[in-house]
Amino acid sequence: MRRGRKTKIVATLGPSSSSPEQLKALFEAGADVFRINMSHTSHELLAVLHGRLRALEAEEKRPICILADLQGPKIRLGTLPGGKITLVEGAHIKLLREASSDDPAVIPIPHAEVFAALKQKHCLLIDDGKIRLRTWSAKPDSADAIVEVGGELKDRKGVNLPDTLLPVSAMTDKDHSDLDAALHLGVDWIALSFVQRPDDVAELKKLVRGRAGVLAKIEKPKALETLSEIIELADALMVARGDLGVELPLEAVPGWQKEITRAARKVGKPVVIATQMLESMIESSAPTRAEVSDVATAVFDGADAVMLSAETAAGKHPVEAVNVMDRIAIAVESGPLFQSIMDSQRATPEETTPDAIMAAVHQITHTVHARAIVCWTGSGSTGLRAARERPEAPIIALTPSVETARRLSIAWGLHCVMTDDAHDLDDVVERAAAIAYEEGFAKPGERIVITAGVPLGTPGATNLLRVAFIGGR
Ligand code: PGA
Ligand code: MN
Repeated sequence: MRRGRKTKIVATLGPSSSSPEQLKALFEAGADVFRINMSHTSHELLAVLHGRLRALEAEEKRPICILADLQGPKIRLGTLPGGKITLVEGAHIKLLREASSDDPAVIPIPHAEVFAALKQKHCLLIDDGKIRLRTWSAKPDSADAIVEVGGELKDRKGVNLPDTLLPVSAMTDKDHSDLDAALHLGVDWIALSFVQRPDDVAELKKLVRGRAGVLAKIEKPKALETLSEIIELADALMVARGDLGVELPLEAVPGWQKEITRAARKVGKPVVIATQMLESMIESSAPTRAEVSDVATAVFDGADAVMLSAETAAGKHPVEAVNVMDRIAIAVESGPLFQSIMDSQRATPEETTPDAIMAAVHQITHTVHARAIVCWTGSGSTGLRAARERPEAPIIALTPSVETARRLSIAWGLHCVMTDDAHDLDDVVERAAAIAYEEGFAKPGERIVITAGVPLGTPGATNLLRVAFIGGR
Protein backbone atom coordinates (compact mmCIF):
# COMPACT_ATOMS: atom_id res chain seq x y z
CA MET A 1 0.00 0.00 0.00
CA ARG A 2 1.25 3.43 -0.93
CA ARG A 3 0.11 6.71 0.64
CA GLY A 4 -0.68 9.60 -1.65
CA ARG A 5 1.04 12.17 0.58
CA LYS A 6 4.32 12.90 2.30
CA THR A 7 3.02 14.31 5.59
CA LYS A 8 2.37 11.49 8.04
CA ILE A 9 -0.65 10.99 10.29
CA VAL A 10 -0.47 10.01 13.98
CA ALA A 11 -3.64 8.55 15.50
CA THR A 12 -4.05 8.29 19.27
CA LEU A 13 -5.70 5.10 20.47
CA GLY A 14 -8.50 4.86 23.02
CA PRO A 15 -11.98 3.43 23.47
CA SER A 16 -13.00 4.50 19.93
CA SER A 17 -10.03 2.78 18.36
CA SER A 18 -8.92 -0.42 20.06
CA SER A 19 -10.54 -3.38 18.33
CA PRO A 20 -8.65 -5.15 15.53
CA GLU A 21 -11.32 -3.95 13.06
CA GLN A 22 -11.03 -0.33 14.21
CA LEU A 23 -7.22 -0.42 14.03
CA LYS A 24 -7.35 -1.86 10.53
CA ALA A 25 -9.83 0.77 9.41
CA LEU A 26 -7.62 3.56 10.82
CA PHE A 27 -4.54 2.16 9.13
CA GLU A 28 -6.28 1.80 5.81
CA ALA A 29 -7.68 5.32 6.07
CA GLY A 30 -4.12 6.61 6.48
CA ALA A 31 -2.80 6.39 10.04
CA ASP A 32 0.96 5.83 9.82
CA VAL A 33 1.75 6.06 13.53
CA PHE A 34 -0.35 4.85 16.45
CA ARG A 35 0.05 6.70 19.73
CA ILE A 36 -0.69 4.89 22.96
CA ASN A 37 -1.20 7.38 25.77
CA MET A 38 0.19 5.83 28.96
CA SER A 39 -1.88 8.25 31.09
CA HIS A 40 -4.91 6.13 30.22
CA THR A 41 -3.49 2.71 29.30
CA SER A 42 -2.68 -0.21 31.62
CA HIS A 43 0.27 -2.47 30.84
CA GLU A 44 -2.20 -5.20 29.99
CA LEU A 45 -3.98 -3.04 27.43
CA LEU A 46 -0.66 -1.77 26.07
CA ALA A 47 0.36 -5.37 25.36
CA VAL A 48 -2.99 -6.12 23.71
CA LEU A 49 -2.83 -3.04 21.47
CA HIS A 50 0.79 -3.69 20.59
CA GLY A 51 -0.05 -7.29 19.65
CA ARG A 52 -2.97 -6.19 17.48
CA LEU A 53 -0.87 -3.61 15.66
CA ARG A 54 1.92 -6.08 14.97
CA ALA A 55 -0.64 -8.59 13.66
CA LEU A 56 -2.08 -5.87 11.43
CA GLU A 57 1.43 -5.03 10.21
CA ALA A 58 1.97 -8.67 9.18
CA GLU A 59 -1.41 -8.76 7.45
CA GLU A 60 -0.88 -5.48 5.57
CA LYS A 61 2.80 -6.20 4.85
CA ARG A 62 3.64 -2.59 5.69
CA PRO A 63 5.66 -1.35 8.68
CA ILE A 64 3.54 0.21 11.42
CA CYS A 65 5.00 2.74 13.82
CA ILE A 66 3.99 2.59 17.50
CA LEU A 67 4.59 5.50 19.87
CA ALA A 68 4.17 5.10 23.64
CA ASP A 69 3.54 8.46 25.27
CA LEU A 70 4.69 8.68 28.91
CA GLN A 71 2.55 10.77 31.23
CA GLY A 72 5.47 12.63 32.80
CA PRO A 73 5.28 14.77 35.96
CA LYS A 74 1.68 15.86 35.56
CA ILE A 75 0.54 17.73 38.65
CA ARG A 76 -3.00 17.08 39.93
CA LEU A 77 -5.07 18.50 42.76
CA GLY A 78 -6.02 16.33 45.74
CA THR A 79 -9.65 15.78 46.67
CA LEU A 80 -11.96 18.62 47.64
CA PRO A 81 -14.85 18.77 50.11
CA GLY A 82 -17.83 17.15 48.35
CA GLY A 83 -15.74 16.74 45.20
CA LYS A 84 -15.81 20.40 44.21
CA ILE A 85 -15.54 23.99 45.41
CA THR A 86 -16.35 27.31 43.81
CA LEU A 87 -13.65 29.96 43.56
CA VAL A 88 -14.62 33.61 43.30
CA GLU A 89 -12.40 36.16 41.60
CA GLY A 90 -10.37 38.17 44.12
CA ALA A 91 -10.81 35.61 46.93
CA HIS A 92 -7.83 34.60 49.06
CA ILE A 93 -7.12 30.91 49.15
CA LYS A 94 -4.62 28.61 50.82
CA LEU A 95 -2.68 25.93 48.99
CA LEU A 96 -1.63 23.01 51.18
CA ARG A 97 0.66 20.06 50.58
CA GLU A 98 -2.08 17.55 51.42
CA ALA A 99 -3.95 14.77 49.67
CA SER A 100 -7.37 16.15 50.59
CA SER A 101 -9.11 19.04 52.26
CA ASP A 102 -12.45 19.58 53.95
CA ASP A 103 -12.15 23.35 54.01
CA PRO A 104 -13.56 25.16 50.95
CA ALA A 105 -10.88 27.86 51.36
CA VAL A 106 -8.05 25.33 51.01
CA ILE A 107 -6.80 23.70 47.83
CA PRO A 108 -4.87 20.48 48.43
CA ILE A 109 -1.92 19.78 46.12
CA PRO A 110 -0.21 16.51 47.07
CA HIS A 111 3.14 17.31 45.42
CA ALA A 112 6.17 18.30 47.56
CA GLU A 113 8.01 19.38 44.42
CA VAL A 114 5.43 22.11 43.75
CA PHE A 115 5.92 23.70 47.17
CA ALA A 116 9.68 23.32 46.94
CA ALA A 117 9.75 25.48 43.82
CA LEU A 118 6.75 27.77 44.11
CA LYS A 119 7.63 31.41 44.64
CA GLN A 120 5.81 34.65 45.15
CA LYS A 121 3.82 35.87 42.12
CA HIS A 122 3.84 32.47 40.41
CA CYS A 123 0.80 31.53 38.42
CA LEU A 124 -1.19 28.28 38.85
CA LEU A 125 -3.50 27.24 36.04
CA ILE A 126 -6.04 24.59 36.86
CA ASP A 127 -8.29 22.48 34.64
CA ASP A 128 -6.78 23.37 31.25
CA GLY A 129 -6.28 26.94 32.37
CA LYS A 130 -9.94 27.60 33.12
CA ILE A 131 -9.02 28.72 36.64
CA ARG A 132 -6.05 30.98 37.42
CA LEU A 133 -4.46 31.62 40.81
CA ARG A 134 -1.45 33.74 41.71
CA THR A 135 0.65 33.24 44.84
CA TRP A 136 1.50 36.15 47.14
CA SER A 137 3.50 34.10 49.58
CA ALA A 138 5.02 30.64 49.43
CA LYS A 139 6.40 28.36 52.16
CA PRO A 140 7.75 24.76 52.08
CA ASP A 141 4.34 23.17 52.75
CA SER A 142 1.84 25.88 51.93
CA ALA A 143 1.22 28.98 49.91
CA ASP A 144 -1.25 31.84 49.87
CA ALA A 145 -2.84 32.77 46.61
CA ILE A 146 -5.40 35.05 45.13
CA VAL A 147 -8.02 33.91 42.63
CA GLU A 148 -7.49 35.79 39.36
CA VAL A 149 -9.97 33.79 37.32
CA GLY A 150 -12.58 31.85 39.29
CA GLY A 151 -15.04 29.08 38.60
CA GLU A 152 -15.95 25.63 39.77
CA LEU A 153 -12.98 23.51 40.82
CA LYS A 154 -13.28 19.74 40.79
CA ASP A 155 -11.26 16.92 42.37
CA ARG A 156 -8.03 15.75 40.77
CA LYS A 157 -7.94 18.38 38.03
CA GLY A 158 -4.59 19.01 36.34
CA VAL A 159 -2.43 21.94 37.45
CA ASN A 160 -0.02 23.81 35.15
CA LEU A 161 2.73 25.99 36.62
CA PRO A 162 4.12 28.03 33.74
CA ASP A 163 6.46 30.16 35.91
CA THR A 164 7.85 27.40 38.11
CA LEU A 165 10.86 25.22 37.28
CA LEU A 166 9.89 22.05 39.12
CA PRO A 167 12.78 20.23 40.80
CA VAL A 168 11.74 16.91 39.29
CA SER A 169 13.06 14.86 36.45
CA ALA A 170 10.62 14.33 33.62
CA MET A 171 10.29 10.67 34.67
CA THR A 172 8.06 9.62 37.56
CA ASP A 173 7.97 6.11 39.06
CA LYS A 174 4.97 5.38 36.87
CA ASP A 175 6.91 6.54 33.79
CA HIS A 176 9.80 4.21 34.66
CA SER A 177 7.51 1.23 34.89
CA ASP A 178 5.55 2.25 31.75
CA LEU A 179 8.85 2.68 29.90
CA ASP A 180 10.00 -0.81 30.87
CA ALA A 181 6.73 -2.30 29.68
CA ALA A 182 6.83 -0.42 26.37
CA LEU A 183 10.48 -1.25 25.64
CA HIS A 184 9.92 -4.86 26.56
CA LEU A 185 7.17 -5.09 23.93
CA GLY A 186 9.30 -3.27 21.36
CA VAL A 187 7.54 0.01 20.61
CA ASP A 188 9.26 2.30 18.11
CA TRP A 189 9.10 5.67 19.83
CA ILE A 190 8.88 6.84 23.43
CA ALA A 191 7.42 10.30 23.95
CA LEU A 192 8.40 12.27 27.04
CA SER A 193 5.82 14.72 28.40
CA PHE A 194 6.47 18.04 30.17
CA VAL A 195 10.13 18.19 29.24
CA GLN A 196 11.61 21.14 31.14
CA ARG A 197 15.31 20.94 30.38
CA PRO A 198 17.82 19.11 28.17
CA ASP A 199 18.75 16.76 31.05
CA ASP A 200 15.24 15.32 31.01
CA VAL A 201 15.79 14.09 27.48
CA ALA A 202 19.32 12.92 28.26
CA GLU A 203 18.01 10.87 31.18
CA LEU A 204 15.44 9.07 29.03
CA LYS A 205 17.94 8.48 26.22
CA LYS A 206 20.26 6.81 28.71
CA LEU A 207 17.46 4.48 29.83
CA VAL A 208 16.26 3.69 26.31
CA ARG A 209 19.74 2.90 24.96
CA GLY A 210 18.70 3.09 21.33
CA ARG A 211 15.93 0.51 21.65
CA ALA A 212 13.39 3.13 20.55
CA GLY A 213 13.49 6.71 19.32
CA VAL A 214 13.01 9.42 21.95
CA LEU A 215 10.49 12.14 21.15
CA ALA A 216 10.47 15.27 23.33
CA LYS A 217 7.06 16.89 23.75
CA ILE A 218 7.43 20.65 23.86
CA GLU A 219 4.64 21.79 26.15
CA LYS A 220 6.36 23.89 28.84
CA PRO A 221 7.57 27.49 28.39
CA LYS A 222 10.68 26.45 30.34
CA ALA A 223 11.60 24.05 27.53
CA LEU A 224 11.51 26.90 25.02
CA GLU A 225 14.39 28.58 26.88
CA THR A 226 16.71 25.67 25.98
CA LEU A 227 14.98 24.54 22.81
CA SER A 228 18.08 24.08 20.70
CA GLU A 229 19.79 21.84 23.28
CA ILE A 230 16.61 19.80 23.68
CA ILE A 231 16.35 19.39 19.92
CA GLU A 232 19.97 18.35 19.76
CA LEU A 233 19.41 15.56 22.30
CA ALA A 234 15.99 14.32 21.17
CA ASP A 235 15.38 12.09 18.16
CA ALA A 236 12.07 13.81 17.36
CA LEU A 237 9.87 16.63 18.65
CA MET A 238 6.21 17.29 19.24
CA VAL A 239 4.59 20.70 19.30
CA ALA A 240 2.19 19.70 22.10
CA ARG A 241 -0.22 22.56 21.68
CA GLY A 242 -2.61 21.33 24.38
CA ASP A 243 -0.47 22.00 27.41
CA LEU A 244 1.63 24.61 25.63
CA GLY A 245 -1.58 26.56 25.03
CA VAL A 246 -2.41 26.42 28.72
CA GLU A 247 1.00 27.61 29.87
CA LEU A 248 1.51 30.27 27.19
CA PRO A 249 -0.95 32.86 25.92
CA LEU A 250 -2.82 31.08 23.11
CA GLU A 251 -1.73 33.67 20.58
CA ALA A 252 1.92 32.78 21.23
CA VAL A 253 1.43 29.15 20.19
CA PRO A 254 1.33 29.54 16.37
CA GLY A 255 4.62 31.42 16.33
CA TRP A 256 6.25 28.74 18.47
CA GLN A 257 4.78 26.06 16.24
CA LYS A 258 6.64 27.63 13.33
CA GLU A 259 9.87 28.12 15.31
CA ILE A 260 9.95 24.57 16.69
CA THR A 261 9.07 23.10 13.30
CA ARG A 262 11.76 25.10 11.56
CA ALA A 263 14.41 24.27 14.19
CA ALA A 264 13.62 20.54 14.06
CA ARG A 265 13.64 20.52 10.26
CA LYS A 266 16.94 22.34 10.20
CA VAL A 267 18.63 19.45 11.99
CA GLY A 268 16.58 16.82 10.18
CA LYS A 269 14.62 15.49 13.15
CA PRO A 270 10.95 14.56 12.77
CA VAL A 271 8.45 17.04 14.21
CA VAL A 272 4.80 16.27 14.99
CA ILE A 273 2.10 18.95 15.29
CA ALA A 274 -0.45 17.92 17.90
CA THR A 275 -3.73 18.68 19.59
CA GLN A 276 -7.13 19.99 18.55
CA MET A 277 -6.32 19.69 14.87
CA LEU A 278 -9.81 18.39 14.08
CA GLU A 279 -11.31 18.85 17.55
CA SER A 280 -14.90 19.37 16.37
CA MET A 281 -14.82 15.92 14.77
CA ILE A 282 -14.97 14.36 18.23
CA GLU A 283 -18.70 14.98 17.81
CA SER A 284 -19.24 16.09 14.25
CA SER A 285 -18.73 14.11 11.05
CA ALA A 286 -17.16 17.10 9.30
CA PRO A 287 -14.42 19.53 10.40
CA THR A 288 -14.69 23.32 10.56
CA ARG A 289 -13.05 25.53 7.93
CA ALA A 290 -10.64 26.76 10.58
CA GLU A 291 -9.55 23.21 11.46
CA VAL A 292 -8.93 22.37 7.82
CA SER A 293 -6.85 25.49 7.57
CA ASP A 294 -4.89 24.54 10.70
CA VAL A 295 -3.99 21.10 9.33
CA ALA A 296 -3.09 22.72 6.01
CA THR A 297 -0.78 25.18 7.79
CA ALA A 298 1.12 22.32 9.43
CA VAL A 299 1.50 20.67 6.01
CA PHE A 300 2.68 23.95 4.43
CA ASP A 301 5.18 24.32 7.30
CA GLY A 302 6.68 21.00 6.24
CA ALA A 303 5.89 19.25 9.53
CA ASP A 304 6.66 15.54 9.42
CA ALA A 305 3.35 14.52 10.93
CA VAL A 306 -0.01 15.82 12.08
CA MET A 307 -1.65 14.20 15.07
CA LEU A 308 -5.16 13.27 16.15
CA SER A 309 -5.83 12.94 19.89
CA ALA A 310 -9.37 12.62 21.24
CA GLU A 311 -10.66 12.65 17.64
CA THR A 312 -9.48 9.06 17.19
CA ALA A 313 -9.16 8.01 20.86
CA ALA A 314 -12.65 8.83 22.06
CA GLY A 315 -14.45 10.57 19.21
CA LYS A 316 -17.50 9.49 17.25
CA HIS A 317 -15.80 9.57 13.84
CA PRO A 318 -12.23 8.26 14.22
CA VAL A 319 -11.86 6.86 10.71
CA GLU A 320 -13.42 9.89 9.07
CA ALA A 321 -11.02 12.15 11.02
CA VAL A 322 -8.07 10.26 9.51
CA ASN A 323 -9.71 10.46 6.08
CA VAL A 324 -10.09 14.20 6.43
CA MET A 325 -6.42 14.66 7.38
CA ASP A 326 -5.38 12.42 4.50
CA ARG A 327 -7.42 14.46 2.03
CA ILE A 328 -6.11 17.80 3.35
CA ALA A 329 -2.48 16.68 3.12
CA ILE A 330 -2.97 15.32 -0.40
CA ALA A 331 -4.71 18.49 -1.56
CA VAL A 332 -2.10 20.82 -0.05
CA GLU A 333 0.89 18.82 -1.29
CA SER A 334 -0.44 18.61 -4.83
CA GLY A 335 -1.26 22.32 -4.99
CA PRO A 336 0.80 24.62 -7.22
CA LEU A 337 2.57 26.45 -4.36
CA PHE A 338 3.59 23.55 -2.19
CA GLN A 339 6.89 22.54 -3.77
CA SER A 340 8.08 26.12 -4.14
CA ILE A 341 7.35 26.66 -0.44
CA MET A 342 9.32 23.51 0.45
CA ASP A 343 12.19 24.67 -1.77
CA SER A 344 12.23 28.13 -0.23
CA GLN A 345 12.43 26.61 3.27
CA ARG A 346 15.12 24.19 2.24
CA ALA A 347 17.79 23.59 4.88
CA THR A 348 21.38 24.03 3.76
CA PRO A 349 23.43 20.84 3.70
CA GLU A 350 25.80 20.31 6.60
CA GLU A 351 29.40 19.75 5.64
CA THR A 352 29.14 15.99 5.44
CA THR A 353 29.27 13.52 2.56
CA PRO A 354 25.72 12.21 3.12
CA ASP A 355 24.31 15.76 3.08
CA ALA A 356 26.26 16.69 -0.03
CA ILE A 357 24.90 13.57 -1.71
CA MET A 358 21.35 14.33 -0.63
CA ALA A 359 21.54 17.86 -1.98
CA ALA A 360 22.80 16.44 -5.28
CA VAL A 361 20.03 13.81 -5.26
CA HIS A 362 17.46 16.52 -4.83
CA GLN A 363 18.87 18.45 -7.77
CA ILE A 364 19.33 15.44 -10.06
CA THR A 365 15.85 14.11 -9.31
CA HIS A 366 14.44 17.44 -10.36
CA THR A 367 16.59 17.76 -13.49
CA VAL A 368 15.94 14.30 -14.93
CA HIS A 369 12.38 13.98 -13.56
CA ALA A 370 13.29 10.87 -11.61
CA ARG A 371 10.18 9.14 -10.27
CA ALA A 372 11.61 8.18 -6.89
CA ILE A 373 14.62 8.47 -4.62
CA VAL A 374 15.68 5.16 -3.13
CA CYS A 375 17.86 5.37 -0.02
CA TRP A 376 19.56 2.31 1.26
CA THR A 377 19.52 2.92 5.01
CA GLY A 378 20.48 0.57 7.80
CA SER A 379 20.29 2.77 10.88
CA GLY A 380 17.79 5.18 9.33
CA SER A 381 20.05 8.23 9.46
CA THR A 382 20.36 8.47 5.66
CA GLY A 383 16.58 8.20 5.30
CA LEU A 384 16.16 11.19 7.61
CA ARG A 385 18.77 13.23 5.72
CA ALA A 386 16.87 12.55 2.51
CA ALA A 387 13.57 13.60 4.11
CA ARG A 388 15.27 16.77 5.37
CA GLU A 389 15.62 17.89 1.75
CA ARG A 390 11.82 17.79 1.32
CA PRO A 391 12.26 16.79 -2.33
CA GLU A 392 9.47 16.58 -4.86
CA ALA A 393 9.93 12.89 -5.70
CA PRO A 394 8.80 10.25 -3.22
CA ILE A 395 11.54 8.69 -1.10
CA ILE A 396 11.74 4.95 -0.65
CA ALA A 397 13.72 4.05 2.46
CA LEU A 398 15.00 0.56 1.80
CA THR A 399 16.29 -1.19 4.89
CA PRO A 400 17.15 -4.65 6.11
CA SER A 401 16.09 -3.60 9.64
CA VAL A 402 12.44 -3.91 10.64
CA GLU A 403 13.06 -1.52 13.55
CA THR A 404 14.37 1.13 11.15
CA ALA A 405 11.43 0.67 8.78
CA ARG A 406 8.97 1.13 11.63
CA ARG A 407 10.74 4.05 13.28
CA LEU A 408 11.25 5.98 10.05
CA SER A 409 7.55 5.72 9.24
CA ILE A 410 6.95 8.86 11.33
CA ALA A 411 9.18 10.93 9.02
CA TRP A 412 8.10 13.14 6.14
CA GLY A 413 7.93 11.51 2.74
CA LEU A 414 9.54 8.18 3.63
CA HIS A 415 7.91 5.08 2.21
CA CYS A 416 9.73 2.41 4.20
CA VAL A 417 10.31 -1.02 2.73
CA MET A 418 11.99 -4.00 4.32
CA THR A 419 14.38 -6.03 2.24
CA ASP A 420 16.99 -8.71 2.79
CA ASP A 421 20.56 -7.63 3.33
CA ALA A 422 22.17 -6.80 -0.03
CA HIS A 423 25.31 -8.64 -1.16
CA ASP A 424 26.88 -5.80 -3.08
CA LEU A 425 26.13 -2.59 -4.88
CA ASP A 426 24.63 -4.25 -7.97
CA ASP A 427 22.30 -6.09 -5.67
CA VAL A 428 21.23 -2.77 -4.08
CA VAL A 429 20.52 -1.23 -7.48
CA GLU A 430 18.56 -4.25 -8.69
CA ARG A 431 16.48 -4.36 -5.56
CA ALA A 432 15.84 -0.61 -5.62
CA ALA A 433 14.61 -0.80 -9.21
CA ALA A 434 12.45 -3.86 -8.53
CA ILE A 435 10.84 -2.30 -5.46
CA ALA A 436 10.25 1.08 -7.12
CA TYR A 437 8.51 -0.80 -9.92
CA GLU A 438 6.54 -3.26 -7.77
CA GLU A 439 5.33 -0.58 -5.38
CA GLY A 440 4.06 1.51 -8.27
CA PHE A 441 6.55 4.41 -8.07
CA ALA A 442 8.17 4.01 -11.48
CA LYS A 443 7.43 2.32 -14.81
CA PRO A 444 9.87 0.70 -17.24
CA GLY A 445 11.98 3.33 -18.93
CA GLU A 446 11.63 5.82 -16.06
CA ARG A 447 14.50 6.88 -13.86
CA ILE A 448 15.11 6.53 -10.15
CA VAL A 449 17.97 7.92 -8.08
CA ILE A 450 19.62 5.55 -5.64
CA THR A 451 21.91 6.32 -2.70
CA ALA A 452 23.94 3.90 -0.65
CA GLY A 453 27.08 3.72 1.41
CA VAL A 454 29.90 1.35 0.56
CA PRO A 455 31.03 -0.74 2.25
CA LEU A 456 27.37 -1.67 2.84
CA GLY A 457 26.20 -1.78 6.43
CA THR A 458 28.24 1.12 7.85
CA PRO A 459 25.74 3.45 9.57
CA GLY A 460 25.54 7.00 8.20
CA ALA A 461 28.20 6.30 5.55
CA THR A 462 26.22 7.24 2.45
CA ASN A 463 28.84 8.10 -0.14
CA LEU A 464 27.34 7.06 -3.45
CA LEU A 465 24.68 8.15 -5.88
CA ARG A 466 23.45 6.29 -8.91
CA VAL A 467 20.82 7.09 -11.52
CA ALA A 468 19.14 3.93 -12.81
CA PHE A 469 16.44 3.12 -15.31
CA ILE A 470 13.63 0.79 -14.50
CA GLY A 471 13.62 -2.27 -16.75
CA GLY A 472 17.35 -2.81 -16.87
CA ARG A 473 18.08 -0.28 -19.60
P1 PGA B 1 -1.18 15.17 25.75
O1 PGA B 1 -0.04 15.91 24.95
O2 PGA B 1 -2.28 14.87 24.78
O3 PGA B 1 -0.50 13.97 26.27
O4 PGA B 1 -1.54 16.15 26.82
C1 PGA B 1 -0.28 16.73 23.86
C2 PGA B 1 -0.51 18.18 24.23
O5 PGA B 1 -0.38 18.59 25.38
O6 PGA B 1 -0.80 18.91 23.26
MN1 MN C 1 0.28 17.43 27.03
